[in-house]
Amino acid sequence: METLLQKAASKPLALTHRELAELLAWPDAKALFGAAYEVKAREVGRTVSFRGLVEFGNICRKDCYYCGIRRSNGKVRRYRLDADEILREAEWTFKAGYGSLVLQSGELADEASVAFVEDVLRRIHAIAGDELGVTLSLGEQTEETYRRWREAGAHRYLLRIETSSPALYEKLHPADHSWETRRECLRALRRCGYLVGTGVMAGLPGQTIDDLASDIEFFAAEDVDMIGMGPYIPHPDTPLGKGVRWTPEDAKKRLELGLRMIAVTRLHLHDVNIAAATALQALDHEGREKGLLAGANVIMPNVTEKSRRADYQLYAGKPCLDENASVCRTCLERRIAAAGETINWNGRGDPPHKRLR
Ligand code: SAH
Ligand code: SF4
Repeated sequence: METLLQKAASKPLALTHRELAELLAWPDAKALFGAAYEVKAREVGRTVSFRGLVEFGNICRKDCYYCGIRRSNGKVRRYRLDADEILREAEWTFKAGYGSLVLQSGELADEASVAFVEDVLRRIHAIAGDELGVTLSLGEQTEETYRRWREAGAHRYLLRIETSSPALYEKLHPADHSWETRRECLRALRRCGYLVGTGVMAGLPGQTIDDLASDIEFFAAEDVDMIGMGPYIPHPDTPLGKGVRWTPEDAKKRLELGLRMIAVTRLHLHDVNIAAATALQALDHEGREKGLLAGANVIMPNVTEKSRRADYQLYAGKPCLDENASVCRTCLERRIAAAGETINWNGRGDPPHKRLR
């Protein structure tokens, strides 16, 4: 048994589908997380990179069955920050030494929305130049749009495939949402010269350990640079989350599954960036630190203005709703030092993986 952990740690992409599934169910979680942490320390260092996360709007044309801000949820108060507000948050992020910024929102693809993002990107670039990494997480777009945003200053893009199983994807989305289109978008992003990130939700209804093993194989096959993964957390105002009984025991299990996915992904891919998603923290106040100790190396502190955070709830129990960005910064610094990790201040934190290409 022990040799499987050693085999995974010694060489990237060394695991078969069976072995990935075996590791995901590895009986000794502590040994699994420890082995993944060693690989992380060796490949990317005992450091954490920060991305300031700006959730700049919750208006979305999509209707994913699991998501709290889906188009059909009439209970959501819709908003979009204006360009000056986003700029202020970008500037704060830059000055706080986070080195990198993520702009995320619901999916909109009309020309006015595309041009709005383009303008914001140019203005951010005028303030911070190449010193501030800029990641977008704005869903499925045309290749032309991706190219425009790349030219305006974005250099990384996060688009989770959500699950690598087209059959499961179909059950989680309305008929006009397409898994193939999403995968095509990942390829278009690569053609446009982005560092590409994808990821999945762990613990989706109907998802098996085999599906999760296939997810990790998908990351390898698409040769992605970054992985943003988190546990699925039901939202009561969604078709998938409605009426779901959710106990502390469920939260514990979901957290562990999320951590196992991080660990096995690190053990298979070695040198990519892996984010400890905020959803981990929603399940356990030390969830993100646990993610770091299971092999993650990126954290995305929320820098969105406090008054807006409650309107951007993808899942139930979102943390830090009542804390402003500087309180979060201090709190995070303390927690990370306690976990024995150092912070990559002012670094863009591009993954070593990129250098191989
Ligand atoms: N609209 C963009 C970005 C915002 S959604 C997009 O979909 O790509 C960002 C991520 O939130 C999604 O990719 C999904 O994986 C995650 N998410 C949505 N609902 C969730 C839930 N109930 N639990 C956990 N993660 C969720
Ligand atoms: Fe919109 Fe993204 Fe939520 Fe889907 S997951 S409904 S695309 S915000």
